[in-house]
Amino acid sequence: MVLKHAQDRVYARATANPRTFWSTQAESIHWHTRPHETLHKRKKLLKSGVSHDHWTWFPGGEVSTTYNCVDRHVKNGNGNNIAIYWDSPVTGAKEQFTYKQLLEEVETLAGVLREEGVKKGDVVLVYMPMVPTALFAMLAIARLGAIHAVVFGGFAPAALAQRIEASRPKAIMTASCGIEGAKGPVGYKKMIEEAVERSTYKPYKTIIWQRDELRWDPVLRESGQRNWQRLVKSARNRGLKADAVPVKSEDGLYIIYTSGTTGLPKGVVRTAGGHAVGLNFSIKYLFGVHGPGDVMFTASDIGWVVGHSYIVYAPLLIGATTVLFEGKPVGTPDASTFWRVVEEYKVTTMFTAPTALRAIRREDGDNEYFEKTYGERGGLKSLRALFLAGERSEPSIVEMYQKLLTKHCAEGALVVDNWWSSESGSPISGIALSATAGEDFATRQREQPLPIKPGSAGKAMPGFDVQVVDDEGNPVERGQMGNIVMSIPLAPTAFTMLWNDEERFYRSYLKRFDGRWVDTGDAGMIDNDGYISIMSRSDDILNVAAHRFSTGAIEQAITSHPNIAEAAVVGIPDQLKGHLPFAFVTLSGHQHPDAAVPDDDLFKAVQKLVREQIGAIASLGGMIQGKGMIPKTRSGKTLRRVLRELIENATHDQVEKEVAVPSTIEDKEAVEVARAKVKAYFRLKGKDLHKPAEARAKL
Ligand code: AMP
Repeated sequence: MVLKHAQDRVYARATANPRTFWSTQAESIHWHTRPHETLHKRKKLLKSGVSHDHWTWFPGGEVSTTYNCVDRHVKNGNGNNIAIYWDSPVTGAKEQFTYKQLLEEVETLAGVLREEGVKKGDVVLVYMPMVPTALFAMLAIARLGAIHAVVFGGFAPAALAQRIEASRPKAIMTASCGIEGAKGPVGYKKMIEEAVERSTYKPYKTIIWQRDELRWDPVLRESGQRNWQRLVKSARNRGLKADAVPVKSEDGLYIIYTSGTTGLPKGVVRTAGGHAVGLNFSIKYLFGVHGPGDVMFTASDIGWVVGHSYIVYAPLLIGATTVLFEGKPVGTPDASTFWRVVEEYKVTTMFTAPTALRAIRREDGDNEYFEKTYGERGGLKSLRALFLAGERSEPSIVEMYQKLLTKHCAEGALVVDNWWSSESGSPISGIALSATAGEDFATRQREQPLPIKPGSAGKAMPGFDVQVVDDEGNPVERGQMGNIVMSIPLAPTAFTMLWNDEERFYRSYLKRFDGRWVDTGDAGMIDNDGYISIMSRSDDILNVAAHRFSTGAIEQAITSHPNIAEAAVVGIPDQLKGHLPFAFVTLSGHQHPDAAVPDDDLFKAVQKLVREQIGAIASLGGMIQGKGMIPKTRSGKTLRRVLRELIENATHDQVEKEVAVPSTIEDKEAVEVARAKVKAYFRLKGKDLHKPAEARAKL
């Protein structure tokens, strides 16, 4: 078969001979000791007696990620390039750091940490807001060969305590406060102290970055609390610095806890060698970001894997500039803030979660900011691409932003949905912007990227063999929905283990298909051209009269209505059909009606879209409208489970019953807003929920 497009040829090459492919990629990294092999596979025997396939990338190699991200750019004469722009609309502060300045900060802070007792292999927990010192902390920890565990700043004490208990950090690096959008400063002192109190394991030190907005007072020295600024000042006075300490390829660079909604968090371990090679590859190949002169703005949080990879490590690995943004898509001060950042820093590549764009669409339904302000004065011309991940991007949002990019941004600018997870470390699928013939993908795009299909997250990336299988693990036909799995080994950025829990790694990812496949937990399909569509988490599949529907497909039909900015669909139990889809929607524009029950015409129009696009069998069992009622995790994922519980409780006349809210929730009030809406809705329509869908459609 002749593969016409470069992206297909690159994938075929990487699949046919992964060792050659990835050893070429490994050339772009500085190794303290070169690996003696590219990929090593073996069987791993667990205590429980089960054995499974295990793999190691770049064994024998020794690498320092910080050296690669910082020192080598200074050594190569690029020290005066900007490494970080910090833009903080919540404090009004802006700062910038060249690579030279970054090196000075990081080697000094690493010196401080070493003096405070941190050494190679230790874990240090980072609980910080989006400030430059958070990046210095991550890089300083990695510089010592220690392992960071970044937890979203502002996580509740119970969630933080679990992560302290699980990772047993030598020290915690934190700040006196975070600033949550327009809500103002949130003190971290109480949260950290309570978390440490709850945990049976106690870290030796807590190093506190004092912010003027709200100070940590008093700093309790006897409890191991230290003032960060003072420690750095003293180190500077003494010229204290620490050199980069290399670690083995398979050693951990960091632990990231998955956004799991139930049970104990899973500590995904990122290994140093594969991470550096794989990220260096992905940012050039997929993102089309090549190095100095490119400015990447990843509007995310360092607590999420996207923040680790594309705020911090990938842009710095290649010597580009990263924008660190302490603000929200709306409310800091308004829905124009992202576009202001693009204009101000001449951002070439942007990355965010679709939920951020939906928030903007809710506030700025007619794109006034994009079109009439920044767009019209040509301020967005530097932007070559807008990447979206974290959740399914419905076609309507991709299409809307594609139109805007085509009109106002760089020629050929694209909106690129890409699918991945904490476990994968970099996109598993996407559309590569630099799928050129060059082996190192160092040149900018020469060939047109593959066409975008809105609603699809593109094609598999090198190193990831993605398949769709049925519940027995057998591949399904192209175009059919099923469980999305991958074969072993995974690409170099991906995990090979969970922190201190080999049995759980097997149980959570391999056991379901007897070790044959890695289970991603996602459901979706692959079309005849190899494009992957992620439709929902496997748990969110609805079974309506023996037909399986994904929440994503139904949400897609609903959001194709021009007045609907956002939709979350959950399945509610139905005696007749098993489940019925039920929708929560937010309308676009500033004004949102108060009524929980939508206008008849709107409901009918939406129902029609669902029937046309999915089928009459998927007709909605009901629809609630409201603003600020769809709860999200801090990484922007819709918490459908919470909405489902609220509805289920309401059907049992228990609407006030407490629902299980995961600690990862961003907006707790949303649950109460949703509860009030559910209550109002049921007051009016409750009984009708048990009528057949046909009758309800006429309501
Ligand atoms: P996390 O590990 O927190 O980043 O969550 C990973 C999960 O987010 C994936 O397993 C998917 O369910 C979802 N996800 C991420 N990116 C996408 C995407 N582009 N389309 C659909 N779902 C996505």
